[in-house]
Amino acid sequence: MKNPLDIIFNRFSHDIGIDLGTANTLVYVKGAGIVIREPSVVAINKNTKAILAVGEEAKRMVGRTPSHIVAIRPLVDGVISDFEVTEQMLKYFLDKVHRDKFFLLPRPRVVVGIPYGVTEVERRAVEEGAINAGAREVYLIEEPIAAAIGARLPVQDASGTMVVDIGGGTTEVAVISLGGIVASRSLRVAGDELNEDIIQYARDQFNLLVGERTAEQIKIKIGSVVPLKDKLEARLRGRDLVSGLPKEIIVTADQMREAMKKSVRMIIDNIKSTMEETPPELLADIMDKGIILAGGGALLKGIDALIAEETHTIVHIADDPLTAVVRGTGIVLEDLDVLSGILLPAEFRLR
Ligand code: ADP
Ligand code: MG
Repeated sequence: MKNPLDIIFNRFSHDIGIDLGTANTLVYVKGAGIVIREPSVVAINKNTKAILAVGEEAKRMVGRTPSHIVAIRPLVDGVISDFEVTEQMLKYFLDKVHRDKFFLLPRPRVVVGIPYGVTEVERRAVEEGAINAGAREVYLIEEPIAAAIGARLPVQDASGTMVVDIGGGTTEVAVISLGGIVASRSLRVAGDELNEDIIQYARDQFNLLVGERTAEQIKIKIGSVVPLKDKLEARLRGRDLVSGLPKEIIVTADQMREAMKKSVRMIIDNIKSTMEETPPELLADIMDKGIILAGGGALLKGIDALIAEETHTIVHIADDPLTAVVRGTGIVLEDLDVLSGILLPAEFRLR
């Protein structure tokens, strides 16, 4: 039976959905929409362990810190590599939500999207982190399922849905049916690796050392995986490895495509091998519905066309692919009772 206090609580509490991504953390507040959208980066003073900055401000520091400051990405590679920092980051973002407008409201219920295939220990760390950060109850949902819900796909039906989420640290490929994951792959080749590819290419081809942020900006600006009609070019700045001095060169989209080719191939191969493991009935459904792309990597120019060509399947990019997961957690919040079947069992219930 429902506790009457609960009804009051739920009515006035600001339930929260969180996408704890390797590159970006997004927070959705019931009734208010997406209120936080910031890089998953924390800047720490190594000597005092004090947190100096979180989010956008910390990301600006990457590659620009003096030796006693480190800019950490606690979730990089899709695993929670640093529990303590993850918890502090979560607390910072939740406090920010509180501070902004909901300071008098009771502790929220929180739905957190976590990568498919994280360990039991990592799951507990997220739950504990959310509780310590002020949540009343925590629910966990696998990110590919949240992304599919965010894309308004009927994940609970007996029909196959395929989601490819290309994030910062990981690409997750999942086939979903009846609210669960039937076949999947998670590989550590995604946006970050593409940035690395560009850094490597600049070094090999032009003796130019460029920073991670510069590489990412070039990728976003002119990165493509198929030949483009418009001949895109961009300036690339860094240090000449021969003279040690600053240098600027012009790179083309074709060159960047060449740089990223191997990693893109790995993503495609993993999509194909997931399909090979998918029961034929579900493949038939996927042929109808198409493959859904989510995550920032879905914005890479031509990625939809390339995947379509390679898999002989229609491909759709989710609306606003960077927010699909957090919007999914928001939809789950609105309907916790109906959708509770697809959530992962939780360890903590504070009441
Ligand atoms: P995560 O879920 O792991 O936090 P996101 O879904 O937020 O990751 O995606 C972040 C990645 O997407 C980064 O590697 C970023 O460089 C990349 N990205 C963002 N926008 C674009 C774009 N327009 N073109 C290509 N890559 C992009
Ligand atoms: Mg993500």
